[in-house]
Amino acid sequence: MDELTARAQTIYHRLLQTFGFPEWRKALSPVDELVSTILSQNTNDRNRDVAFDRLKAAFPTWEDVRDADPDDVIESIRPAGLANQKGPRIQTVLKEISAERGNLDLSFLLDMTVDEARSWLLHFNGVGPKTAAIVLQFSLDKPDFPVDTHIYRVSGRLGLRPETMTVEQAHPHLASLFDPSTYGPAHLNLIRLGREICHARRPNCDNCPLNDICPSSLTRSPGSTPDHLTL
Ligand code: SF4
Repeated sequence: MDELTARAQTIYHRLLQTFGFPEWRKALSPVDELVSTILSQNTNDRNRDVAFDRLKAAFPTWEDVRDADPDDVIESIRPAGLANQKGPRIQTVLKEISAERGNLDLSFLLDMTVDEARSWLLHFNGVGPKTAAIVLQFSLDKPDFPVDTHIYRVSGRLGLRPETMTVEQAHPHLASLFDPSTYGPAHLNLIRLGREICHARRPNCDNCPLNDICPSSLTRSPGSTPDHLTL
């Protein structure tokens, strides 16, 4: 095992000890997850869920959302923010899926490999690697590692990736460091670390369970190195 993989494993187990085994919210169908993830862009989980529930309440089926007046869709998802962008994005994806498949049933993705299913999802405008990975990992139970803004930030600070690596490059890179069977809990606990401790502006290094192995920790004196022996 190389040093980076060993570091990832140590981080994974430390976060399990600290936060416990995280549970993903109720699994959604692939189309539900796809729409929910588009709604989640640049907002928090609560606003995403409010907007998603409003959309589902306003339109009985995804076909109804697809064919609706764009202004009605925008109005129903307003709590998620950026509704003028997200509404058309959702309707375009639903239209493109319908045009290609003849319906909005994505269960055929279950018969594809992870790489095939990811490629298929990525060819739609508005579906990036994070959205595709969330649908794969949490709806289709196919292992993939979504990298959101928190995971991108903390993985850089923790030395799990080069600082200059893009978020697109970080997806396969971080996926290679964790065991596929641990992608779900690793993803969720790294997000929790980013939300609760390793804040964007003022990381709370004093109370971080990783401060002895983190190269960016503010708790060590300048010039000292992290304790690699604990990896
Ligand atoms: S030690 Fe500080 S910078 Fe490193 S992961 Fe923890 S909070 Fe973030």
